Amino acid sequence: MSQNEIVTDVVIVGAGPVGLFAVFELGLLDIKCHLVDILDRPGGQCAELYPEKPIYDIPGFPMITGQGLVDNLMQQIAPFGPEFHFGRMVTSLTRLEDGSFRLTTDADETFLCKAVVIAAGGGSFQAKRPPVEGIEAYEGQSVFYAVRRMEDFRDHDLVIVGGGDSALDWTLNLQPLAKSLTLVHRRDEFRAAPASVNEMRRLVAEGKVKLLIGQIGSVEGADGQLGAVTIKTAEGEVKLPATRMMPFFGLTMKLGPVGDWGLELNDNLIAVDTAKFQSSVPGVFAIGDINAYPGKLKLILSGFHEAALMAQAAKSIVSPGERVIFQYTTSSTKLQKKLGVA
Ligand code: FAD
Repeated sequence: MSQNEIVTDVVIVGAGPVGLFAVFELGLLDIKCHLVDILDRPGGQCAELYPEKPIYDIPGFPMITGQGLVDNLMQQIAPFGPEFHFGRMVTSLTRLEDGSFRLTTDADETFLCKAVVIAAGGGSFQAKRPPVEGIEAYEGQSVFYAVRRMEDFRDHDLVIVGGGDSALDWTLNLQPLAKSLTLVHRRDEFRAAPASVNEMRRLVAEGKVKLLIGQIGSVEGADGQLGAVTIKTAEGEVKLPATRMMPFFGLTMKLGPVGDWGLELNDNLIAVDTAKFQSSVPGVFAIGDINAYPGKLKLILSGFHEAALMAQAAKSIVSPGERVIFQYTTSSTKLQKKLGVA
């Protein structure tokens, strides 16, 4: 087994609300899960697109915010100890001869598991590339759209571009490690949380962060290694030494690699049956916004229902021959023990 190989019962692709609830339903059946998400935190669309918006159609909650729902789901699944792998995209899914699966990520990890749950929503969130000529040549080597390991930025001349929460959060977090840090934004107003903006301005006043109002004009370097960036400002061009650059220009949703895994698709969504929410490949399930079936409603509550039925079907694959007895959490001491409440 290689160092980066993880063996588990089920891998869930996507840690949106539906992927998170799947951990609960699988956990009640003693199925252990690892979750992989390209984002750097759980919650999918709820956390990324509308954390502060109220949702009014979650059963039992007259009103709950997107982030509130995610926080509650995280609390609800905590007893099952799910393991999260954030900031990674699942790039490949292969069915092995014995019917189990191998998944790989763009962070060079391999997962071996008995069943796969695709809860990839509207697809993977992908960073928008800034309109700078030749930037592709540096991506993944010295230009990054997410931070996997803060250590990779230590002692670098770092340029962060953007005015939202990601740009400001990473400015504050990486400033103590960086050799120099310049924040570039097209105007002197920031969308990020006011507390982060105030902290950034304090660091600028102390000379620990340089703030430039302008746009990236060009990048230079060799063999994927950035050396300098030129910023266009109202006063003219400024050339900065830069060995790492992080543009934060927002995210778009794309189906991404899920479309290449040999699963039957229906209008770019994974076709499933409505008894098990299984795809055209036995052992690969698809729940939440990513699936398609007659009458599908892209609602969180639909995804929760799909997770419950999927878990029953996944159990017969993970533990073949084991009888599943239907039980209520209110009255089953066994289930309550798993939840740590009995
Ligand atoms: P998502 O939330 O989309 O999460 C999928 C996750 O999978 C993402 O985090 C993505 O990064 C990850 N992923 C995808 N591909 C990969 C890959 N290859 N590798 C790694 N990770 C991957 N629904 C309601 O029920 N009620 C509402 O009031 C409501 N309001 C909404 C308001 C807005 C503004 C929006 C945008 C949506 C709203 N929705 C609402 C819809 C709801 O958010 C979705 O139905 C729900 O998020 C679907 O959950 P999911 O877990 O299936 O997918």
